[in-house]
Amino acid sequence: MSFAELGLEQRLLTAIESKGYTVPSPIQEKAIPAILAGNDVMAAAQTGTGKTAAFTLPLLQKLAKGQRAQANQVRALVLTPTRELAAQVAESVSTYGADLPLTSTVVFGGVKINPQMMRLRRGADVLVATPGRLLDLYQQKAVKFNQLEVLILDEADRMLDMGFIHDLKRIMSFLPKDRQNLMFSATFADQIRSLAKGLMNNTTAATVKQWMCPVDKKQKPALLQELIVTNQWSQVLVFCRTKHGCNKLAKWLVGGGISADAIHGNKSQGARTRALAQFKAGEVKVLVATDIAARGLDIDQLPQVVNYDLPNIAEDYVHRIGRTGRANQTGQAVSLVCADEIEFLESIEHLTQKHIDREYIDGFIPTHEVPPSRDLRALKNKKPKKPKLRNQEPSAQAPRQRKPQVKSALSKSNQRNTPKSPSRDGQPAKQNPWNKGPSKRPAR
Ligand code: AMP
Repeated sequence: MSFAELGLEQRLLTAIESKGYTVPSPIQEKAIPAILAGNDVMAAAQTGTGKTAAFTLPLLQKLAKGQRAQANQVRALVLTPTRELAAQVAESVSTYGADLPLTSTVVFGGVKINPQMMRLRRGADVLVATPGRLLDLYQQKAVKFNQLEVLILDEADRMLDMGFIHDLKRIMSFLPKDRQNLMFSATFADQIRSLAKGLMNNTTAATVKQWMCPVDKKQKPALLQELIVTNQWSQVLVFCRTKHGCNKLAKWLVGGGISADAIHGNKSQGARTRALAQFKAGEVKVLVATDIAARGLDIDQLPQVVNYDLPNIAEDYVHRIGRTGRANQTGQAVSLVCADEIEFLESIEHLTQKHIDREYIDGFIPTHEVPPSRDLRALKNKKPKKPKLRNQEPSAQAPRQRKPQVKSALSKSNQRNTPKSPSRDGQPAKQNPWNKGPSKRPAR
């Protein structure tokens, strides 16, 4: 088997030849055609097997065909556990892509962030990054992912060993769902498999059937009971906004003969673990949870998620429905929506860029109709903040940019809220990945 037979184009073949490679390594033989075909790829490969070329070569070929990255945009993101590996991968990207009209850059912690922000202003077809520094740059609006086509996790097992799981999840929550995922790992322990499942979930979100029942608020418990009984749902995760709401609903369901339990922040860890074990074992049919309590739940492939209340943070909706339809399994997410929740509904539809189908259930037609949702507007990204130039050499600065920058009260308060204590490769202390600010309803 030759590199040409794998479907690689001439400019890459020339680069390969000048590196002195004659035959593809086994991982290259398998991965290159699959990546070129646009498939998600999960590969067991250690350093030294030629894995970098296995993903870089087809990646560059695909990127060369599309539109170049715009300002601050990234088309392919390679995440690596260490700055050394990031630098090596970036080097390979430059070498193999020397004859292609593509741009690439690398960012990692432990060095000044401003030059990296400057480089990102031009956009990069390929960005190689360590997770912590990437999050810093994203928070400072120096990098955007609207154009992202491919995500590559290199040495995924090492990233997990080094405690990057929350950073990775957080990063993945920013990325467009419609993307190609490539994952390389020396080992495939359970944790890696579930990370891979999470990735698959992102790409197969279309397998989750999403619908909503318009209903009056007072009728929600009875409608939930009706849906569980008539559809014979055997394992349902129900989301409520408040702890009190969870308790009340679980009690109500139990009163109606449906086994149910509630988990939320006021329950002890022991009680939560017990409830979860019973739910997984099928002894409890319905688990009623708040968003925060549900976040740490290790439940795979749930067939049914119910949004008893819509979340007031639209992103929570995406996380909730991500609990179902995992790894190519089909699932359903149904929302019980009353007229008061129209603003939450519109925020969710705006974020997901999709109107949720409405289905009316006999006997539960609302007297207070849920207004029709407005038309979808395109998602907008905020303008990236200009990098500070204080650390630059004066000669490198344009005169206008040399003026001292006046920070707004808002930027000061943001700084206060952002932990600055460095940890792994100069990253900020870890934050709760789900801890986002409230989403605002844009003005009509
Ligand atoms: P990696 O596993 O990506 O760290 O690559 C290990 C080393 O193998 C690097 O020095 C590559 O330059 C080299 N290499 C990659 N592919 C080939 C190949 N097909 N033939 C010979 N050497 C290769």
